[in-house]
Formats: sequence, structure tokens, C-alpha cells
Amino acid sequence: MRSNESPLTKCPVCGNKGSKVRRITLDALLTPGAAARIGDTQYRFCDNPQCRIVYFDEADSTFSRADLTVRVGVKEQSSPRPVCYCFDHTIEEIEAEVRETGRSSVLDDIKTRIKTACWCETKNPQGSCCLGAVGRYVKRALAEHASHCGSDTIQEKPHECCAHDAVSTCEMGHR
Ligand SMILES: [Zn+2]
Repeated sequence: MRSNESPLTKCPVCGNKGSKVRRITLDALLTPGAAARIGDTQYRFCDNPQCRIVYFDEADSTFSRADLTVRVGVKEQSSPRPVCYCFDHTIEEIEAEVRETGRSSVLDDIKTRIKTACWCETKNPQGSCCLGAVGRYVKRALAEHASHCGSDTIQEKPHECCAHDAVSTCEMGHR
């Protein structure tokens, strides 16, 4: 490998900058047929939710969602969308808990349990710790919750329910 800034650090389909994944992750998660195509190159993970490509390398070798034995939660539109593969947390679970209680216990649960053991490299398609992705979904769910009238549990945010801005954000749809 010549340098880390190889020209093809971007997904050949969507142009998203990929994050490096190790061979061990591909070996663990690709179907046997797909695994036979793994090249001796540096693969990267495309985390663009709209893009079907999961892994790509600089030699134009790609693997898409159908090549994996697990669902790639960040790329799925339908339930279940797994986001923590070691302890089985889904995006739906995070959203449901926040809707019902105004908070999420998922980050704490993961942080406690990874002290004992975790298997991110061979279970998570991203090949790395899920906390970053989980944190993003928790934040999004909390923001969504706070923008609805009647939420009184988000203390660190100003009480903005029913303000024009909050309502219009709501109506503009859910990403
Ligand atoms: Zn892509």
C-alpha cells in the first residue's frame, strides 16, 4: 500500500468517504460465495444509508447488502435495524424507549457490558465499536422527542414545545 490517501478512499457508487475495515470483519460477515471474492486489498465500509454498497476497495471490488449474512441496520429502511451487534440493540428499540420514557438506556447498557467483552470486529459490519452510531441515533431520537408537544423530560434543552420552529421541524418530516 503506497499511502493512506489512496485515490479510492471514496465509495465508487455514492462517493461517500469510507472507513477502513479489517479482513477479519469481511471473513466473518460475508456469505461464503461473496467471501470467495475478497481481494488482498484494503476494504472500506460505506456508511451512507442510501447506498447499497457495504464494502469497497481501491481495485473496484465491492460487496453490497445482499453479500452479508447480517442486516446492515444503518442501511435498512424496515425493522429490525440492528445497530449494536454484540448486545442486540436496534434503532427501533432506541426510538421506542425515548418515545415512552424520554431517555435512552442503551448507551449505558453497552458501556457497562463492553467492560466484560465485545465482538465488534466480527459482528458489526462496520468492524468497529458501535457507540458512535448508537449515540447518533439516540441523539436523533431525543431531538425528535423534544420537538413534540408535551415533552417535559429533556431538561438540558430549552422548553420549545409548540414554538413555531419546533412545529415546523416536526412537519418537515422525519429523516
Ligand atoms: Zn456508497
